[in-house]
Amino acid sequence: MSGYVPTIGLEVHCELKTETKLFCSCRNKFGSEPNTNTCPVCAGHPGVLPVLNRKAVEYTVRAGCAIGCKISRYSKWDRKNYFYPDLPKAWQTSQYDLPLCTGGEVKITVGGEEKTVRLNRIHLEEDAGKLVHGAGGTAVDYNRCGVPLMECVTEPDMHSADEAVAFLEELASVFRFAGVSDCRMQEGSIRADVNLSMSRPGEPLGTRTETKNLNSFRSVRRAIEAEIRRQTEVLESGGKVVQETRRFDDATGEGYGMRGKEDAQDYRYFPEPDLMPVVLSDDDVGRIRASLPELARDRRKRYTERLGLPAYDAEQLTCDPAVAELFDGAVNAGANAKKAANYVMSEIMRKGKTAGEDGIIVGISGTQLAELLALVDKGEINLVSSRDVLDRIWLTDETPSAAVDALGLRQNNDEGEIEKLVRDIVAANPGPADDFRKGNEKVLSFFVGQLMKATKGKTNPKIAGELVRKVLSE
Ligand code: ADP
Ligand code: MG
Ligand code: ZN
Repeated sequence: MSGYVPTIGLEVHCELKTETKLFCSCRNKFGSEPNTNTCPVCAGHPGVLPVLNRKAVEYTVRAGCAIGCKISRYSKWDRKNYFYPDLPKAWQTSQYDLPLCTGGEVKITVGGEEKTVRLNRIHLEEDAGKLVHGAGGTAVDYNRCGVPLMECVTEPDMHSADEAVAFLEELASVFRFAGVSDCRMQEGSIRADVNLSMSRPGEPLGTRTETKNLNSFRSVRRAIEAEIRRQTEVLESGGKVVQETRRFDDATGEGYGMRGKEDAQDYRYFPEPDLMPVVLSDDDVGRIRASLPELARDRRKRYTERLGLPAYDAEQLTCDPAVAELFDGAVNAGANAKKAANYVMSEIMRKGKTAGEDGIIVGISGTQLAELLALVDKGEINLVSSRDVLDRIWLTDETPSAAVDALGLRQNNDEGEIEKLVRDIVAANPGPADDFRKGNEKVLSFFVGQLMKATKGKTNPKIAGELVRKVLSE
């Protein structure tokens, strides 16, 4: 045992899901043809002026409110100067000494233990473009240039890869539920830099390295584990950790040093002369705070304490805001909470997952779901045919009842009619009928199956089961 303990601080970048960019009216949209969402402002032409997107400020303040930050009544913009081909202006408009939000904290649960990770600040800045490396060379796509980006800086409060990943998951959940960012790792809309040092308990923190631009939870975990191993080896062999900026290569699973770490002075930060400071009144902040929807943690608590759901269900239902909204909508429209939860966790999650790679697509409303469950409850349709109804109403506003009629799925609950059918089937299958009379209960399901086949699944299975037993027992 080395006795060294890792200390981790994260810098997390989240793209805001505003309609337009931070300082121009170009679309903020992922996946467009390269360089189609650009204009002289975001492409860095000389002589143009930025115009601040009010929504981006609102979203950042809302994010800050969601994690208990202090919201600055006065904040300002600064230029962070550096050259890189994805940054045509050669400076990034960011916030240096007066960010929009300071402080705040996120609660995480790791190994059954609750921990608090403090935030240092959240500031707003513009994203850079993207370099696209190809066979013929490297091209640059400026679509992402000027997309509003929140940078969230934590205090060095984490001490393992598990804690760092739990923090990122919780932060992403808070921002998704607050409606400010999709936090889609695959689309690069959430990325993290890992600051890590090793020290012995009771001693001052060690020298840190910063591994930049990790864009999946998995690479955050692997980069942390690799860096813990590397620093521990350096220290144990009597060496010193050098403060530097590093990259992590997902393919080899190894980190490598890029350059000595730059200091703030290397960026020659100075106040942005083209933008006014952001001044917020108590009213502004109050109004934004009031627009904050219920977060996942609060919903989980409400689901278990007030609706009496198991913790597992509450966890599943809050994996995605759209899923939680659907569930709440169905309950508000009169659905039984446990039945709605079961249906969402099985049928809706299955269907929603196949439709979208990242997250879940929810293709029906709470009202539709409540009505669908009521139809099953009343025996108008059974669970199996509810899937056909779901397929038909998915991403439409057709009512489940209309879909049941259109599909001809209404279930037969007429005991007289069903009994007639049962008698026909029993008469046509004397062998299995005999088996039942000799005590083989298993053939009951054979008869129900035959009946379902003959009626294309449109018979009430409960009534069918009872009648098969009755007829066979005569
Ligand atoms: P910079 O602006 O140079 O990146 P900051 O002081 O803003 O430096 O810190 C950046 C991040 O590094 C923060 O998340 C902070 O928690 C973390 N950090 C600072 N010191 C250490 C340390 N000794 N070990 C691990 N993380 C650290
Ligand atoms: Mg940094
Ligand atoms: Zn633009």
